[in-house]
Amino acid sequence: MRHFTHIDASSINEASSLIAGGSSMLIAGGTDLLGTLKDEILPQYPQQIVNLKTVDSLDYIKEDGDAIAIGALTKLDTVANDAMLLERFTALAEAAGRVSAPTQRHMGTIGGNICQMHRCWYFRAPENRFYCLRKGGDYCPATIGDNRYHSIFGAEQGCITASPHDTAPALIALNATIVTNKTQYVAEDFFAVNGIRSNVLGDDEIVTEIRIPNTDTKSAFLKHAERKAIDFPIVNCAVAVTGEGTRIACGGLFPTPLRMATAEAEVAGGISEDSAQRAGDAAVAEAQPFPKNAYKVELARALVKRTLLKSV
Ligand SMILES: Cc1cc2nc3c(=O)[nH]c(=O)nc-3n(C[C@H](O)[C@H](O)[C@H](O)COP(=O)(O)OP(=O)(O)OC[C@H]3O[C@@H](n4cnc5c(N)ncnc54)[C@H](O)[C@@H]3O)c2cc1C
Repeated sequence: MRHFTHIDASSINEASSLIAGGSSMLIAGGTDLLGTLKDEILPQYPQQIVNLKTVDSLDYIKEDGDAIAIGALTKLDTVANDAMLLERFTALAEAAGRVSAPTQRHMGTIGGNICQMHRCWYFRAPENRFYCLRKGGDYCPATIGDNRYHSIFGAEQGCITASPHDTAPALIALNATIVTNKTQYVAEDFFAVNGIRSNVLGDDEIVTEIRIPNTDTKSAFLKHAERKAIDFPIVNCAVAVTGEGTRIACGGLFPTPLRMATAEAEVAGGISEDSAQRAGDAAVAEAQPFPKNAYKVELARALVKRTLLKSV
């Protein structure tokens, strides 16, 4: 790891002005960022690291008018074990509880979870070995290389990495809003197909809060990974059912988590064994897998069906 300056921020405004310009990076729990620094995967090594944990009041879960508000620095552990979330917004608590292992959940934050960088082994190769599309290069090595963990949708986008965030599909299904120091985003618009970051944040923008509509909701989350712990999703799926209908989102299938609109249409009349099966079929109808990842199509089909049946 190279040398860098470490600064404890005392406010969001201070942190924002310290990271403006792009030569500094934020650290929250550090469970993702420190790996990127140790392996030197970034084309530009940050000169300073700005610690968000010293900013007060970003660690909470509370009812706030028509929303449940979760501070960006809330630990995944706290989200996973919060009694209100477990009962009323089950998909999010279950998703947080499936991230990695207790050590990472104890350090990792929900803000860091949705802002983590992608896990493609070409993007993450030590010493920036592959100057891939996300880093400004002109091709995606995974399209012609080992793509067993990559996207099955959207090859035309160029980069075929797969979204790694476990909490993201839950936030999209729950119709959450991501609040930053500059603006707010509907969760499904927060993630980015291209670029070094996995999201649309500007270089001085910081996630401060996540807001979930405080409405009667039944929800569920399922994840398939190669191991039960300390493993990223191969496919994950979240379903949320409210008076307004059923929302379904999946990760691991595209560079961003995906809302599965055609699958949602199949369960518009209610969730049953038959409609859940049709939804699973619809979810993968347009898939275009690569030579090594066709297995993901069947996984996604089954996971959408099973998550729907689990939600009711
Ligand atoms: C072995 C291992 C296994 C893992 N398994 C999983 C897994 O199964 N599922 C999963 O989803 N993740 C997994 N992760 C990734 C990571 O641990 C989690 O995503 C964790 O939630 C990251 O949170 P953090 O607070 O530690 O983020 P950090 O490492 O502190 O930050 C991650 C990135 O987000 C940025 N950032 C952090 N907070 C903010 C903010 N508030 N606003 C703007 N930018 C911000 C940082 O600059 C950095 O680029 C794993 C990591 C490891 C090392």
